[in-house]
Amino acid sequence: MISRRKFIHSSTLAGAGLLSGLSFSSLTGCSSANPCIEPVTKHKYVLADIHNHPTLTDWIWNSPIAVKIPMAADIAKGFFDKTGTSWQTSHAAGIDLICVSHFNLFDEWVTMATDPNPAAPTNALRMINLLEKELEGPAAQYTKLIRTPEDFNNHFNNNYNKNEPSYRIAVLHSLEGGHALGGSLEPLNKFAQRGVVIITIGHFFNKGIATAPNAIPFFPDANSLRPHQGLSHFGRDVIYEMEKLGILVDVTHATSTAFEDILKVSTKPLIATHITAKTLGDHAYSFYDEYIKEIVHRGGMIGIPLYTYMLANYINVQEVEKYGSLREVVRTIRYVIKITNSYKNICIGSDFGGYIPHLIDMNSLCEIEKLRVLLLKEFGSEEIVEDILAKNVIEFVRNNWKRNV
Ligand SMILES: [Zn+2]
Repeated sequence: MISRRKFIHSSTLAGAGLLSGLSFSSLTGCSSANPCIEPVTKHKYVLADIHNHPTLTDWIWNSPIAVKIPMAADIAKGFFDKTGTSWQTSHAAGIDLICVSHFNLFDEWVTMATDPNPAAPTNALRMINLLEKELEGPAAQYTKLIRTPEDFNNHFNNNYNKNEPSYRIAVLHSLEGGHALGGSLEPLNKFAQRGVVIITIGHFFNKGIATAPNAIPFFPDANSLRPHQGLSHFGRDVIYEMEKLGILVDVTHATSTAFEDILKVSTKPLIATHITAKTLGDHAYSFYDEYIKEIVHRGGMIGIPLYTYMLANYINVQEVEKYGSLREVVRTIRYVIKITNSYKNICIGSDFGGYIPHLIDMNSLCEIEKLRVLLLKEFGSEEIVEDILAKNVIEFVRNNWKRNV
């Protein structure tokens, strides 16, 4: 069997070469537009998005392969980047909070569970720097980076009022994929210092921390014992250390075995920043009802992605892009509330900018009013809708992010 490392290395180069030979003009129709509805009335709370990738494309453009072949990154964006978030329009729409998930595709794809990239933590810090540079630049008029729980509490204090000129979107750092640790516990302290609030310990592959449904199932993971491995010894230590440092453990992307191991080890409320219910969308990444209930039972938080492919059982991505809509998002929210009997443990982790398929009715975060209207119809209460869209997760972060460094 070909090794994944060899396959990815050669196919990435071949793919980039092929893409760079294509005419870009024929593809511009695929690129995501960023239309936005008129600015809405600034309700006290509009949206706290706990999982968003606004800087993923910038990072990919900074990657060695894109620097060498910029056209490849342009085209990849045109093909895959169907949803987006702009600071300016999000600000106009009154978005409260965006938790930026940093994810380094290259460190994840070319390393194996047995040989994590020691440069991965440095790369994670480079992604953090990239975002901070952007927030210090033109985005400064729309955003405020929050680095500490104290800043967080001050931001969302009793005088929080978005109709003041001082209103800014609160921005938090998070990491997607424990591969960012490069196989060592040491970087956790630095990440906590830099204000990382959440780490999704798994992702597409087993990186020696927690087993994840393999994103390329027909390749073996070098020397990894999936799926029965669950959480590794190192993974256990990662959770202990994260809890000590006050970083929230995100269980999204964990296999059932890994999730059950996490339950045995963790002592703090867990967050699942962007999961779906297996009963409604039967995918490897979806969670069983009993797991969703257990997270809530332990005072945790369930983030629902605006990722319709995962929320339902479409036969292919073309069908998703034809029919996938916010209806599926509402359906999942309704279902999770029903099985957990709680309005207070659910929030949104859009996954926008994470190269997810487009929805027929919302592709820019600033269009959140559309979801608000649907949820109001569903639940008939402004208070419940504000809880789901923003207040629940703001309170969760307030109560559980400790940053002990
Ligand atoms: Zn994810």
